[in-house]
Formats: sequence, C-alpha cells, structure tokens
Amino acid sequence: MELSRRTLLALTGAMAVSGPSARTTTRAALFRGVGQPLSVETIQLDPPRPTEVHVRMVAVGLCHTDLHVLRGERQVGMQPMVMGHEGAGVVEAVGAAVRDIETGDHVALTWLPACGVCRWCRAGAHHRCAESSRIARGPQLDGTYRRRDAAGRDVGSFCLVGAFAERTVVDQASVVVVDKSIPFEVAALASCGVPAGVGAVTNAARVRSGDSVVVIGVGGDGMNAVQGARLAGAKVIIAVDLHAWKLDAARTFGATHTIQAGAGVDLPARVRELTEGVGADHAFVCVDPAATLLDASRATTVGGTVVMTGLTPESVATTPVPPIELLRGQKTVIGSVYGSASQRTGIPEVLRLYRQGSLKLGELVSRRYRLDEINQGYADLAAGRNLRGVLQLG
Ligand SMILES: [Zn+2]
Ligand SMILES: [Zn+2]
Repeated sequence: MELSRRTLLALTGAMAVSGPSARTTTRAALFRGVGQPLSVETIQLDPPRPTEVHVRMVAVGLCHTDLHVLRGERQVGMQPMVMGHEGAGVVEAVGAAVRDIETGDHVALTWLPACGVCRWCRAGAHHRCAESSRIARGPQLDGTYRRRDAAGRDVGSFCLVGAFAERTVVDQASVVVVDKSIPFEVAALASCGVPAGVGAVTNAARVRSGDSVVVIGVGGDGMNAVQGARLAGAKVIIAVDLHAWKLDAARTFGATHTIQAGAGVDLPARVRELTEGVGADHAFVCVDPAATLLDASRATTVGGTVVMTGLTPESVATTPVPPIELLRGQKTVIGSVYGSASQRTGIPEVLRLYRQGSLKLGELVSRRYRLDEINQGYADLAAGRNLRGVLQLG
C-alpha cells in the first residue's frame, strides 16, 4: 500500500521527500499590468516536482530589472506573475531527483538557470545557459505552473524564481547553496548585482593593476564594479552618477574621483582631465546604455574597453556609437551578463571575498521593507534613494 501511494505520487510528479509536500498558500507580490503597482496577494503554491525545491524566502533585493517590467519597458510572457529575481532563503522541501541540495540548506536563487545539459552548461559557462531565453515567460523550467491566484488562474514566476514571495518553488537549476554563516540579505545581493559588477571588471574587462576605470551609474551593478576595480588594483577609479550622495558612497567603496552627471557636463572631457589627457582604459555602463554608451566609449582611451551591464528598454533598437569611432579607436565593447562567469562559481566567489573582508556587501543595503511595503521600495528605487533596498520576509 505504501509503495503504491509513493508510486502514484511519483507518477503525478508531486512527490517530495521531506517538508511541505502538499499544496500550500503563500503571500506574493504579483505583476498584473503595466503601470499598476505590484499586487500583494495570497496565492496557491504546489509542492515541488522531482527536480524542484521549495524555498522559504528570507531576503530579496529590489533591482531595476523588475522596474523595467512594471513600466512596460521590458516585456514578460504573461500576467499575473510573481516578480523578484535576487533572493535568498531556506530550503524546506526537495523533490526526489534533486541532487546536492538538502532541507535546511541556505540558498541563493539565480535569475538565470543552469540546466546542466546544454553545450554551455557542460562547458561550465552556466551564464550562457540555453534555457536563458525562457526566464521571462512565466512557467517553470518544465513548462508547467506551480502557482494559481484566487480566481484559479495560472501565475508565472519571473526569471524562474518568483522571489517576491514568502515561499517559492524553483527548479534546482536556479539554486546555489551558500554557507549558513552568510547573512541572507548578503546572499540575496550576491545573486545578482554583486557578481555582475565585480565580474564585469575582473572577467569581462580583465582590469589590471594600475589601470584607469570609469563607472557610469553607481547602483547595484556599478557600486560593485567600483569595488571590483579597487580589488583589481586600478589606480584611477572614476564614479559617475546623477546623485551626489551615491558619489559620496562610491568613495567609501573605492572610487578615487567622482563626477556628478547632468546637463552641460562633458563626461569624456572630464574623464580625460583625470587620466593624463588620454581617457580611461575601461568604462562600465551600468545604467541606461541608450543615454550613456556614447559618452562611455568616448571616455575611453585608444584600445579601450567598454563593458555594458545595464538593460535598455525594448524600444531602443540601435547603439548610439558611430562604428567609425569603434574602428579608429580600436575599442572593444562587451555585453556582460552575471559578470561574464558561471553564476554557480561567481556567487560563491563573491561570498568568499566578502568573508575575507575584501568586498563590502552589507553596506550596500540602504533600506529594508516588508512585503506590504514593496511599492514604496520601488518608489524609493526610482527616486534614487537606495543603493539597494531589500525585502525582508523571514
Ligand atoms: Zn537584479
Ligand atoms: Zn544550460
């Protein structure tokens, strides 16, 4: 009898070996339409299927990417959808086929999956996983749904994680186990902007000791590019932002010079003044590439590197840099995702640097919010009041 019940559960794909193995409910912040605030609702949550885990979320970062969706600047495949893509929590149940993740583990959720079987994953380049094209569609990695709203409609999960929720069910492909000594909010930030910024410097641009660097936009990615440049031994680190208080903060993260952007500011000229008249070796475009990529390119020296980490709205279809400038300037332009390295190695690496005191991560958190305050969190983000706001769920 026991065997037949287990077999039946396995056949329906609903077997969990421990923890919450039945359908449950959770509160979550849902995207229900462009221009609308996130809707905090109680939804149904199914148990994990064989390759999935059930995670009780504790901390989730408020990142600009979700704001692009709320404003309609980037499209997602469906609504309603639980937003949130940079979170950390505790595993409460694991499916029967899950490997190397156990109940009680502390985990960071990754906004790109690592399917493990595509050509990129087999080569260890999980940040190029072939499944990455599916992250904004809504369903789980297997194409089905684990969430329903009060009306019985399927609910998607942004980036395959749907982190703005007290509980979530995700494939093991989206999970990195972290050491239990790491604060959850640090683990949450380490799942997105920290490896993105640090890795843009160390892996994409390969900044070396003595190089000069300009970082445009010192938010989630950019502030970590600043501290990545300091770690790499860059001699000149120029932070650029619209907000003076962020520039003051950038100095504490390693910036040697700051430039407040705004009308009438000739950024390339200002950067040349600080780099012996020639421009920076590397520029990092961490905000609004449509508005900043041309200045970034012109702020670099001949043979310079421009690394772009920021998203553009879908309405932006061309790059603003004249091709002849790239040719004559012998420039390299790099699009960098997840710091141009596997998230499965990049996240542990930034946490190792944090534990040895080389990266300031707790200092990135400006404000904390409860789930019901999430729209205030996004208003603060849009107004430039936070380095990082963090949702506290635990
Ligand atoms: Zn993010
Ligand atoms: Zn893959």
